[in-house]
Amino acid sequence: MSMKLQKNYNFFRKCYSKEVPFFHVIDVSDSVLFLMEVGALDPYQQQVKIGIDDGQEKLKICLSIIPLPGDSKNIVNSVKRVFIVGIAAGVPEKNENLRKMLGLIKIQDVDCVVTVDIKLALMLVGKQSAGCTYICIYCNGKAPYDDHDQESNTLGFLVENNRKYVTAGSILKDSRDFQNVVDQPLLTGHAPDVKIIQIIIPPELHLMLGVVSKIMKALEDLVGKQFILDFLQEIGVTPNKKWGSALNGNQTRRLLNQVGKLKLGLQDRGVYSGMPFLETLQRFNKVVQSCFGQEREDGFKESIEKFSESYRCLGISITPKVHIVMDHLVEFFELRPESTAGLGYYSEQAFEAIHYDFLKFEEHCSVSKDHKDYRMKMMAIVQQYNSLHMGC
Ligand SMILES: [Zn+2]
Repeated sequence: MSMKLQKNYNFFRKCYSKEVPFFHVIDVSDSVLFLMEVGALDPYQQQVKIGIDDGQEKLKICLSIIPLPGDSKNIVNSVKRVFIVGIAAGVPEKNENLRKMLGLIKIQDVDCVVTVDIKLALMLVGKQSAGCTYICIYCNGKAPYDDHDQESNTLGFLVENNRKYVTAGSILKDSRDFQNVVDQPLLTGHAPDVKIIQIIIPPELHLMLGVVSKIMKALEDLVGKQFILDFLQEIGVTPNKKWGSALNGNQTRRLLNQVGKLKLGLQDRGVYSGMPFLETLQRFNKVVQSCFGQEREDGFKESIEKFSESYRCLGISITPKVHIVMDHLVEFFELRPESTAGLGYYSEQAFEAIHYDFLKFEEHCSVSKDHKDYRMKMMAIVQQYNSLHMGC
């Protein structure tokens, strides 16, 4: 970008709401137009992606403009292409806070997709948190997810359920009668008949971690924790805590690629009851290979079917993440027939990487958040961070 443009553009303007201490751009659609102009981008060839995530005690709303799928040489998920359009320190992830924040940046004016983790997705659609009956963000189904009549959630369906819930007196214990939609959905700016899966992208990293964690935990119950830990050590994976939160994306991919070794280990011990779990993991690996990358492959549908069939035979519960893989990924891709992009194209990972990336800048903010100069300093830091990402 030209120096003049950089100097003149106030990308991150100071704004402060009494209820929510929140720095943000005044109008995110202006930010999108500006970034398109700076990068000399054709608006018809770009996809706007919004990410929301809490990390390092700051709730951030981020923006990324990525080229439409097809240019495989383009590394679209780099954190260097992410801009912070809103940041709030010490603000809990709650529906009401997100409502204010998203309203202040005027997100309804931007044609975008959203990548968030499941917890935030539930807030965006107005549902209760984990543990509620109708926990799927994408459909009206519920565990054990064996009802084939489940229908896709549309924005209008969720809004209507919330309206009925409020009319009935907002009684929390009765929320399941209203699909657990206890808050107004926050995804404004879309038509009522738009399906949620057209707006909120299935989060590939969280899905992969969730599915593998569930199967490995069941296997651990069969073969014992030490056997699993020994195997992980053998393949160079060191979990920090218990399954799920411990393994990162790379470790999980390594595990998936080494399941053959685990099979041999079980054979040596004569624990054949564990084999179906490993077979299911290998089938899941095929799913990951066929549609979790930048491009999806032709056989992805068959891979999902084979994985689903295998998983259902394990006799373990179908978690919401497993359900999304089984019942919603095909729907997601079929709604985008013109695109060959895999889930990795839309990945939430760059938005999550921003917390650590931004932390390096934040260290230059020498005052505490109660200091009178904090807002000004923080604003300058965010502005500098965004400026450095222009043209990347
Ligand atoms: Zn569902």
